[in-house]
Amino acid sequence: IISVRGMSKLFGDFVALDRLNFDVRKGEKIVILGPSGSGKSTLIRTLNRIEPHDSGTLTINGKLINDKTNPIQLRCMVGMVFQNYNLFPHLSVLENCILAPMRVRHMTRIEATDLARRYLDQVGIPDQADKYPIQLSGGQQQRVAIARALCMQPEVMLFDEPTAALDPEAIVGVVSIIDELAEQGITTVCVTHEMAFSRRIADHIIFMDQGKILEITSPGTFFTSPQTDRAQNFLNQML
Ligand code: ATP
Ligand code: MG
Repeated sequence: IISVRGMSKLFGDFVALDRLNFDVRKGEKIVILGPSGSGKSTLIRTLNRIEPHDSGTLTINGKLINDKTNPIQLRCMVGMVFQNYNLFPHLSVLENCILAPMRVRHMTRIEATDLARRYLDQVGIPDQADKYPIQLSGGQQQRVAIARALCMQPEVMLFDEPTAALDPEAIVGVVSIIDELAEQGITTVCVTHEMAFSRRIADHIIFMDQGKILEITSPGTFFTSPQTDRAQNFLNQML
């Protein structure tokens, strides 16, 4: 469903992404690992064109993603949960979830509300619908951000550190959400620093350093016998 060929991204003359190549199949769960500053967030931001890439090609669902891509159509297809959640502070949890489906997907308020309640239930916070983001814990806000993205019914979900603010029990909750998405054929690309979490969800691990992809392997191989010294050092530091 995603195909990346020779994709690069520059910030001025700094090479943030250096000629990346990889493919993701429909329903797969991909985890991106790598040290801070290696380009993980930049990579997933290029996948829904919050950051346009500078060279190479990106194809999603058979469509070339470039200047001519309608950003609204793209973001209907590719949902994102941000590192800092980006909830609308002046809107309740429910309103956060139904705004885009009503405006962009042209759902009625009733349809959007039904869907939002279903996803708030799925992420385990059905009783928080009428609160405002500021009244929620970090972990609850994160789950609202997941529910809000799901309400757009995307084919691909991008997660930037979805477990950063969560306790171990809530992390298990996110694992089961991502598993359920995969069962529904929704593809997940997830950046994380949680090794146990990535081992649990990933079909494939992409390891990045300094804007380059150094390894694409199964979690079994990555965690037991990484192919590069850089990945071995990274894993040693994580233990
Ligand atoms: P972390 O684990 O800390 O979140 P990351 O792997 O997600 O790190 P990125 O946020 O992708 O790293 O950043 C990669 C590099 O690109 C960093 O050196 C960062 O300073 C740089 N960078 C990111 N966004 C911008 C920007 N808008 N302008 C200039 N440089 C940027
Ligand atoms: Mg990041």
